[in-house]
Amino acid sequence: MSTKTRFAPSPTGYLHVGGARTALFSWLHARKHGGRFVLRVEDTDLERSTQESVNAILEGMSWLGLEYDEGPFYQTQRFDRYNEVIDQLLDSDQAYRCNCSKERLEALREGQMQRKEKPRYDGHCRGKDIDPNEPHVIRFRNPQDGMVAFDDMVRGRLAFANTELDDLIIRRSDGSPTYNLTVVVDDQDMGITDVIRGDDHINNTPRQINLLHAMGATPPRYAHVPMILGDDGARLSKRHGAVSVMQYRDEGILPEALLNYLVRLGWSHEDREIFSLDEMVELFDINDVNKAASAFNTEKLHWLNQHYIKHENPDRIARLLSRHMGDLGIDPSVYPPLAEVVEAQRERARTLVELAEISAFYYRDFDSYDEKAAKKAFKAAALEPLRTVREKLVAVESWERIMLHDAISQTVEELGVGFGKVGMPLRLAVTGGSPSPDLDLTLQLIGKEACLRRIDKAIAHIEANSHE
Ligand code: GLU
Repeated sequence: MSTKTRFAPSPTGYLHVGGARTALFSWLHARKHGGRFVLRVEDTDLERSTQESVNAILEGMSWLGLEYDEGPFYQTQRFDRYNEVIDQLLDSDQAYRCNCSKERLEALREGQMQRKEKPRYDGHCRGKDIDPNEPHVIRFRNPQDGMVAFDDMVRGRLAFANTELDDLIIRRSDGSPTYNLTVVVDDQDMGITDVIRGDDHINNTPRQINLLHAMGATPPRYAHVPMILGDDGARLSKRHGAVSVMQYRDEGILPEALLNYLVRLGWSHEDREIFSLDEMVELFDINDVNKAASAFNTEKLHWLNQHYIKHENPDRIARLLSRHMGDLGIDPSVYPPLAEVVEAQRERARTLVELAEISAFYYRDFDSYDEKAAKKAFKAAALEPLRTVREKLVAVESWERIMLHDAISQTVEELGVGFGKVGMPLRLAVTGGSPSPDLDLTLQLIGKEACLRRIDKAIAHIEANSHE
């Protein structure tokens, strides 16, 4: 049977990094084996599931490029099928009705706790014949002895005694099916061969295997991937900063950087850090995933992000950057071409947000100068170099970096000063103090008109703030 994996999020929030990593591992496993990847929305919790959350999950997956071959399937649209299976289990006596009261179950639980036993249902209604018209739940008749064992692709062989598992509820008194039932029906109907999910589900797996056997189905292979921790060792949560995938986009992380970061959380190949998506598909092996939880490290994500900002095609970076320029109120479709700005600035930014901030001056004048730089460069002695270089720049007809370089050199020569005496105030005048590349390139990208205007403004600023 060809490989089929699934990602089965519950739409009760955004797509968080843990979910995204599970999705990535499932996607890679399917792609690697030439199989298929299914998206299933587990929306049976009607109170907590929302359409916004479904949209957020779809948006996150499409931003990451984790495209699915089948789905999205919605569990709320499959209630008839779940009921059909529940009826079959009832008919074959593998499930039974239970009308134990809340009070009885609470007393049972309390007694067990007092005796330091694991709280579990005692099978009170197993032999009863309860009228379907009276309020009841339906429980699965779990085998009472023997073991359930499986070879987890991450954890190795795991075995559970059936005496540890109680008769779980598969249909609530309101008629709605429960998680363990819907998952196994879906995994079977959808032909899932490999279930890759978070290890918070590990205790559900023996119950699901028993259910599958009761349905006459063959259980899939399982891989339970360890959770992601924050840098303080606690489970990753909002207080560690961004956990939503789309928040990373908003903070200027590239999808390829986040994917590369996520694949390395719990998996490695030799001592490599950089993996393109194609390389991941080729090299990833779910059997090589670590058992131990891994800690999220924002520094490393930023390091990878910087790598991709530096090395990706500048046109692609420009496309991704333009929304962040828009966030600053800048229309990057006007001069200068954003891809050229990317090439000029990208060594200096770890995120697209930073890249946008340090590139804003190419597109608009600024209100103030970097204070420290102004103290050094905007002394009265800078006036003559600025006035002279302005004259030379006015005369430049073809606004190209070679010509601009010549104009600066001529100024330096004419005044008989070091390059810094001209370069420093000129750079501050046109950039305001933002990080910038070679001065001639900086001038070229800013454009003639804006350069002259900014030099005039700087001269006026120095005149107003110093005594000649
Ligand atoms: N819907 C479950 C969750 O979001 C996942 C179920 C599964 O993968 O089996 O935790």
